[in-house]
Formats: sequence, structure tokens, C-alpha cells
Amino acid sequence: MTVRAILDLKGREVCTIAPIATLAAAARLLSDRHIGAVVVTGADARVIGILSERDIVRALAARGSGALEEQVAQAMTRDVITCGGDETISELMHHMTAGRFRHVPVVENERLAGIISIGDVVKYRLAEMEREKGALEEYIRTA
Ligand code: AMP
Repeated sequence: MTVRAILDLKGREVCTIAPIATLAAAARLLSDRHIGAVVVTGADARVIGILSERDIVRALAARGSGALEEQVAQAMTRDVITCGGDETISELMHHMTAGRFRHVPVVENERLAGIISIGDVVKYRLAEMEREKGALEEYIRTA
């Protein structure tokens, strides 16, 4: 199954935030939207970073509650690993395991085209495995 097929099912909406927003605003956004990471975009809507709940926890642990008034740009990860629509679930699992992160923004034609979380990967991989199991059982039954 490809990233594009997952996006066709789950939708392409991506929650974004500006680099000058505060960590307090980012925390509210994550909480309101029930998500674990937000993509940081610049003026031209290009991806310039990603901020996950872990980055906020790290800033709080290092600098206390005053960190909530810092800008997103100070806590975000700048070297974002993205993927294209043609990549497979297996390739995504490899990115997430090797990089130890749970979110991969999808970029197509230099534009943000969706986001895949580890929850999406697990959900669609399980569905894929169920289909494979059903096909094997059918094969054995009719062989
Ligand atoms: P996560 O597991 O996605 O909550 O993120 C863990 C750490 O990896 C945080 O510091 C994030 O900013 C960073 N991170 C999350 N997604 C990515 C990504 N696609 N590329 C690079 N870093 C990321």
C-alpha cells in the first residue's frame, strides 16, 4: 500500500503553525486537535520544521514553564524527513524506526500534501495483513 492510497482514505488535511507562534499556542493546537505533531510552515507555505509534543516536553524540562512563551522556531526540528506519495508503508516504517519519530509529512511538487502518523501506519498495515491472511486462507481452501 502506498502513501497516496492511505491519503485517499484518511484525507490530506495537515495541521500547520507559524514559526513565530508560541509553544503555548502549539500545545493548545495539539490538544484541541488530538494530534501529536504540527508541521511548521514559512510564508510561502513550505515546510520549514516539525514540532511534536516531545519537543514541548523537552523545552519544559530544560527551561521550565517560561518555555511556553518561546517561539516554535526555537524548539522545532529543522531537518524534516518527508516522503512522497509513491512510497510504501514498509518504507515509511523504515524512516520512522531509523529516525525514531512518529510523523512523516508528505510533500508533492514541493507542497505539503498530507501527513502520515505511526497510528496510520499501524492501522493500514493491519488492514493489509488481514487482506493477505484472507487471500491465503481462500487459496488453501480452494487448492
Ligand atoms: P515524534 O515521535 O514524531 O513525536 O517526534 C520525536 C522527535 O522527532 C521530535 O523532536 C520531532 O520534532 C522529531 N520529528 C518528528 N517527525 C519528524 C520528521 N518527519 N523528520 C524529522 N524529525 C521529526
